[in-house]
Amino acid sequence: PGPPGGEVRLAVLGARGVGKSALIVRFLTKRFIGDYEPNTGSLYSRLVRLDGEHVAVQIQDTPGCLQVQGDRVQVLDSLSRCVKWAEGFLVVYSITDYGSYQAVRALHQHIRQLHPDARTPIIVVGNKADLLHARQVQAKEGLQLASDLGSLFLEISTSENSQGVCDVFQYLCKEVSKLQHA
Ligand code: GDP
Ligand code: MG
Repeated sequence: PGPPGGEVRLAVLGARGVGKSALIVRFLTKRFIGDYEPNTGSLYSRLVRLDGEHVAVQIQDTPGCLQVQGDRVQVLDSLSRCVKWAEGFLVVYSITDYGSYQAVRALHQHIRQLHPDARTPIIVVGNKADLLHARQVQAKEGLQLASDLGSLFLEISTSENSQGVCDVFQYLCKEVSKLQHA
């Protein structure tokens, strides 16, 4: 038997360099280190307190899952196994990288294909909100896209705001856990 609070499986998707690894490490360690090995497809796990119970949270970091040709974004098949496995998703782009924003739709569709239940939580995250001078994606564009897709949206800075990162993961864990008990 697992922990009393159960288990939650999450996956973090997004184009290269948007801060997926930084985001996960930030949540798990509260630290921002700055450099992460590129292309690690690591699985992280940790007990997390959720409404007074310990829940075993597993988070899959997903590297190299996209092929970009011009403005065409293709999701690689290697991502499917991880998407099938997970129960809740963060789809991340960087506000400093318009291409990473354009990749969100394809990733979202890929998730919805494998999880047609619209209750499966997918949160769209615009990361690197501290880099305002380098902004390529307006907050309202992020909001518009997420509402088109029927997802929650927020901008965060993994480097500057640990609390924001933790709030997103906590929220996602709660949504998954609600669905498990529905
Ligand atoms: P991944 O390829 O999506 O896993 O991206 P990484 O986690 O390796 O991050 C790519 C780069 O962006 C690294 O140099 C990080 O330090 C940096 N980074 C990640 N999040 C932020 C953020 O919120 N603000 C800033 N300024 N840099 C960030
Ligand atoms: Mg990474």
